[in-house]
Amino acid sequence: MEERKNCFQEYRQDGLIYYKIPLFEETGLVKTGFSTRIGGVSKEHLTSLNLGLKKNDARENLLENYHRICKALSINERDLVMTRQTHDDHIRLVTEEDKGKGLMKERDYDSVDALMTGERGLPMIIFSADCVPLYFLDTKQKAIALAHAGWRGTVKKIGQKTLFKMREAFGTNPKDVLLAIGPSIGKCCFEVDKDVVEEFERVFPFAAEVIEQVSEKKYHIDLWKTNELMMLEMGILEGNIAIASICTMCHKDLFYSHRGDHGKTGSLGAFLELV
Ligand SMILES: [Zn+2]
Repeated sequence: MEERKNCFQEYRQDGLIYYKIPLFEETGLVKTGFSTRIGGVSKEHLTSLNLGLKKNDARENLLENYHRICKALSINERDLVMTRQTHDDHIRLVTEEDKGKGLMKERDYDSVDALMTGERGLPMIIFSADCVPLYFLDTKQKAIALAHAGWRGTVKKIGQKTLFKMREAFGTNPKDVLLAIGPSIGKCCFEVDKDVVEEFERVFPFAAEVIEQVSEKKYHIDLWKTNELMMLEMGILEGNIAIASICTMCHKDLFYSHRGDHGKTGSLGAFLELV
């Protein structure tokens, strides 16, 4: 299989389909992963590898789904630390005592859309179904982060804020950071009204580069490019960015898509662990 460094690599194993990030994996510092909806045991609109805890899925289904995907990624599902996402911009520094918070233990925090850690053996996961998952790896200070950037999180610049927090916590220099932008809704499908366009124009000087008017009242916005440009502004190097360039709504047979499934859908997971 041809391996392109600056994208996501698809794997098929034991009935599962999932992705890894070669740019990150080849450093030998991390385990990476992004799940699809294929290969699990959940039923109906959650078919089949739902990872969302708030989807009224049976616990036994969730445990089996986590077991399968984590086995494929060589991650210990009992140690996974989870976000509690609210489309806001709060970032949690994850430590040993957070191990297992989410699936195995109650999360004693609220409104966390990004996680970061400098500790090895602490697997983390964030959730999405169209929203943009951002992965960070500081190869020098050996620290990682994951951020959930839907359009609201993108406008709140959660990616930039995560990088600022990494600088505070680990002394991260953006030049040492690898960034990955996971499967999520593409410009092809992310259609919005003028109100969302105005938010982007207010916040991003480069808004004209990422917004396209498609009819009198409808616009398409490129969330991948918005996040990429935002992070280039921060000093991340172009060659250090991997973009999946896979639209979850165009491929809703493969992914959960909030828009594509009209809100009735499961959750995908973005995984990252320092080894
Ligand atoms: Zn699309």
